[in-house]
Amino acid sequence: MANSPTLEAIRTAPKVLLHDHLDGGLRPSTIVELAQETGYRGLPSTDPADLGRWFLGAAHSGSLERYLDTFAHTIGVMQTPDALARVASECAYDLAADGVVYAEVRFAPELHVESGLSHQEVVNAVLEGFAQGTKSAAADGYQIRMAGLLSAMRQAASAREIAELAVRYRDAGVVGFDIAGPEAGYPPSRHLDAFEYLRRENAHFTIHAGEGFGLPSIWEALQWCGTDRLGHGVRIFDDVTVHDDGRVELGRLAAYVRDKRIPLEMAPTSNVHTGAAKSIVDHPIGLLRTLYFRVTVNTDNRLMSGCTLGSEMAVLVDAFGYEWSDLQWLTINAMKSAFIPFDERLALINDVIKPAYTALAE
Ligand SMILES: [Zn+2]
Repeated sequence: MANSPTLEAIRTAPKVLLHDHLDGGLRPSTIVELAQETGYRGLPSTDPADLGRWFLGAAHSGSLERYLDTFAHTIGVMQTPDALARVASECAYDLAADGVVYAEVRFAPELHVESGLSHQEVVNAVLEGFAQGTKSAAADGYQIRMAGLLSAMRQAASAREIAELAVRYRDAGVVGFDIAGPEAGYPPSRHLDAFEYLRRENAHFTIHAGEGFGLPSIWEALQWCGTDRLGHGVRIFDDVTVHDDGRVELGRLAAYVRDKRIPLEMAPTSNVHTGAAKSIVDHPIGLLRTLYFRVTVNTDNRLMSGCTLGSEMAVLVDAFGYEWSDLQWLTINAMKSAFIPFDERLALINDVIKPAYTALAE
């Protein structure tokens, strides 16, 4: 307790981010400028500070629909190669400045084709932006490795095509595939052909499951679709029983998730905003961590949740009394669960993460 992690110190610690949406992490000032440049009308405010507060307010409203509505404005200004590259570059820079050393940032090509871009042009622009942002961060002394995940929208029908694109770009900066969008009414098995294709190609993927919908979606994502990781997976908690005497009992699905070390991409603040958890103190991450599930901490949407990975960790320190050893454990969990090759994950753990946390804890 002599050296409890402060937000300031946490921001200097190397961190790993697996679940962050490109269209949920724009700087408010960039949205205003891009709206002017691209002729996008309909922003609720053209004052950056006002606009930032508006996003946060809409996210806090407790309504998932209102939460998702906010993306119309970020996606609205992300329809040209220049805009996409700028947003991706600033994303890389902002994460690096927050102490993130490895990030998988996801985006859905099909959401950025309103002005006629092809899916491939969208991917090229974003990857170019990641490279630019990584370079400017390095010039300021921040080291980050950026990787892309391609998301397909679960209510649409392009999953197979996006999965093929992810495989085509697997050696060019895209490390995996994801399914995002509203869960209720759109079970992951709807896109089974995409997942079967990815498995035949020995490719990696994650599925948003157990956020808006409960155990059946987690079960489908794992046992039917064969996902490598669970996007959120918060509701796995429904399969964990805590008895009055404190004894904890896992149902078959929860036991499977823990036994197989299935990574849970949890984003505490976002989960509270969308109603997947009541509050941070009540967030299942507290118990799941003590039970040694493969828990990871993520931002999800930095703009809508008004958070960074550093601030998410600080919030957990406040709620659960986490020490540096806990933050290191969560960070190594995330690094082990990344979609880059094993030797590269190991190098980041041994050469970057462990030495830094050892020094911080002293
Ligand atoms: Zn998400």
